[in-house]
Amino acid sequence: MVTRSDSSRHGLRRLWTYARQHRPKVVLATSYTTLGKVMDVVPEVLIGVVIDVIVRGQESFMATIFGIDGRWNQLLVLAGINLVVWMLESLFGYLSTLAWRNLSQTLEHEIRTDLYSHVQKLEIGWFDEQRGGGLLSILNDDINQLERFLDVGASLLITLFWNVILVGAVFAASSLLVTALAFIPIPIIVIGSIIYQKRLQPRYSRVRESVAELSSTLTTNLGGISTIKAFHAEDREASRLAGVSNDYRLANQDAIRYSAAFVPLIRMAILAGFTCTLVVGGWLVLNDQMEVGVYSVLVFMTQRLLWPLTSLGETLDQYQRAMASTRRIFGLLDTEPTMVEGSESLDFGEASIEFDAVSFSYNGHAPTLEDFSLSIPAGETHAIVGSTGAGKSTIIKLLLRFYDPDKGHVRIAGVDIRTQRYSSLRKLMGYVSQDVFLFHGSVRENIAYGKPDADEQGIQAAAKSAEAHEFIRELPDGYDTVIGERGQKLSGGQRQRLSLARAIIRDPKILVLDEATSAVDNETEAAIQRSLAQVTKDRTAVVIAHRLSTVRNADKIWVIERGRVVESGTHDALVGAGGLYAALWRVQTGL
Ligand code: ADP
Repeated sequence: MVTRSDSSRHGLRRLWTYARQHRPKVVLATSYTTLGKVMDVVPEVLIGVVIDVIVRGQESFMATIFGIDGRWNQLLVLAGINLVVWMLESLFGYLSTLAWRNLSQTLEHEIRTDLYSHVQKLEIGWFDEQRGGGLLSILNDDINQLERFLDVGASLLITLFWNVILVGAVFAASSLLVTALAFIPIPIIVIGSIIYQKRLQPRYSRVRESVAELSSTLTTNLGGISTIKAFHAEDREASRLAGVSNDYRLANQDAIRYSAAFVPLIRMAILAGFTCTLVVGGWLVLNDQMEVGVYSVLVFMTQRLLWPLTSLGETLDQYQRAMASTRRIFGLLDTEPTMVEGSESLDFGEASIEFDAVSFSYNGHAPTLEDFSLSIPAGETHAIVGSTGAGKSTIIKLLLRFYDPDKGHVRIAGVDIRTQRYSSLRKLMGYVSQDVFLFHGSVRENIAYGKPDADEQGIQAAAKSAEAHEFIRELPDGYDTVIGERGQKLSGGQRQRLSLARAIIRDPKILVLDEATSAVDNETEAAIQRSLAQVTKDRTAVVIAHRLSTVRNADKIWVIERGRVVESGTHDALVGAGGLYAALWRVQTGL
């Protein structure tokens, strides 16, 4: 379902477009790096000038151009220049690092927040197809990879570029013959590096895939740690993890084997260039065709020219990794929701619910609902019952518009919900899900999640209606008690009641309870039943229940089997009819 646009293939161009507003900062950072490089080359030239002073004295470059008398004076001036140049180099080095790092941090932050906001907009159906770890690895690792490149890689590439240009200029000014010889290795190194990186790329892709697999396994396992322990599967899981980790190691080692050979190969090319400069330059000096000062500069410079190129491979490598990450990042940013949000924002006065001949299947799976119809008049409480897998939760998910039906319509107050904005739709509903999700924070914050601007009175009133007030007061810090990331410090029933309070505080027109009572003790069930009677009074309510006793007072009960309604009616009518519901009732009550 992940769609990648063409543009995401050109990672760098895409990044450049994305970072539009930071372009001035890129230019500034590039300027600092360039100036730093210039200052870095100057001392090399100064070495030549110093030797020139010592060898030629009054005929030296310093004496003829600047008219400075005496070797000692010339040396002092040179030392002064040197001092300033070194200080400037340090200054620009500092500014350059600062600029690139700040830029990469800013960019990283922006991409991360954009990506997260974007991912939140994608529909539930998309999440069904994703592996949590895979998404996490894009949101974490891939963004970090980009940071690593921007921190050092980018300025290194710029440095290399200027290095070749500046050093090349010094060479060209000295001797064209030696320049040609010194430059021979450059195309070999550059082309060699590019070919090398091409070969390395698929290996790095494998590394990325296996790290995604690894983080996905870790996430799943740590999340399911209690199941692992309960089944005493620690050893099995440890060895499974070892397998996945080993795949990662092997993928990395395969890439390392290849990349480690790179520098030694480049070294050979450098050696050739260096030897040529040494021999040919020396021959020119011996034949009085070159000054000793120039010769010494060239010998130093060959090193300066060629050695930095060894880092080209590594930087290209970093570049490739960063671009692979960029493609994944933009691939995700380019993924568009397939469900189209409606444009209307009706203010619903009353909220009747209607499913009209709805058919639905999950992403090409067998149909979950077929020609399913149901209607709930405004203000009534209806229950949906049926065996596991019958499609009860699916009905709720369609009502919340987590998915769209393949055929048919879901209507609220006679309006197809597809015409409405998500905000106006969800504002209507208070939802208590099967899997109660409590955020890390206080009890108060968790209840107020349903209505961030709620006051203390409102929060307590909601808690009271959900029969949660009593147990909250008994918690160590009452409403200020911090509950764990998934509310682990509370019992199942307590969590259900908090979740109910959170739904009620929104004062929703429609209250949706998904199996709110399946996992709770008798006392909680009684409490919830009492509160249900109260909180559903002036609302439309849909209650999915496993325990039929919870819903016997509902205005109507719909019995679902394999995505179809098989019976409906009041509790008494259904029991009297002697059908499926009556059979379930007998089983549950033991009558
Ligand atoms: P119930 O709530 O009645 O137990 P559900 O509505 O959860 O049943 O599920 C109905 C059917 O749809 C089941 O067969 C289930 O396996 C399938 N199903 C539920 N959620 C998904 C999903 N995200 N992807 C694919 N199939 C699903």
